[in-house]
Amino acid sequence: MGCRIVLLGMPGAGKGTQAERLSARLGVPHITSGGLFREHLDKGTELGRQARAYIERGDLVPDEITVGMIAERLARPDCAPGFVLDGFPRNLAQAEALDRTLSEMGTALSVVPLIRVRPEIALARLSGRWTCRDCGAVYHTLFSPPKQEGVCDICGGKLYQRPDETPEAHQHRLEVYEEQTRPLVGYYRQLGLLAEVDGEPAVEDVEIKLWAVVREACGSK
Ligand code: AMP
Repeated sequence: MGCRIVLLGMPGAGKGTQAERLSARLGVPHITSGGLFREHLDKGTELGRQARAYIERGDLVPDEITVGMIAERLARPDCAPGFVLDGFPRNLAQAEALDRTLSEMGTALSVVPLIRVRPEIALARLSGRWTCRDCGAVYHTLFSPPKQEGVCDICGGKLYQRPDETPEAHQHRLEVYEEQTRPLVGYYRQLGLLAEVDGEPAVEDVEIKLWAVVREACGSK
């Protein structure tokens, strides 16, 4: 039957970390819109060129660009058993476009966990964040430092700070979340898909709670 998940939560809530663990447990791809954009930026594609200025400001990339990129990714065969979407949808138009895309594929979302944290916790997590250039793993100088500075524990790749990792961009991304993404909480609640998880405890504790929610929605898969 598959398990199709959208992870909701403000930037810094821990979506990326939890999505990675969830996708490993389920054996389905972790699809991150921010990660897909960063691949395009690194490769210097036309899509990356169109998206760059928005990303650097912490604004949302226009829906025409974003929706197509995600629809193309979801149509690939590795998504047949399911997926964990992280960072998409981020506004109502994207949520509706996702529903249409899935319904054309004869399927629908299974559950939408909301990882809740207070904004001050999200801001503390966002500053000090380092990302692996090769595998996308995320580290934090205080909360989860790599064993060796600047080097990924998992794949040995080089760690870097994203171009949108400035205090101004962090604040702006939280504002964008409040204005554009927060309405999705009501949208998915109304559809009976929302499941709230406290994102403030340690990573492993959040993982256990999240797994319980997903198991209940998707069966024992
Ligand atoms: P993230 O890694 O999820 O924080 O995303 C980094 C940046 O990519 C965001 O600040 C946006 O500029 C862009 N982005 C990621 N996902 C989306 C989306 N669903 N819609 C529009 N822009 C996005």
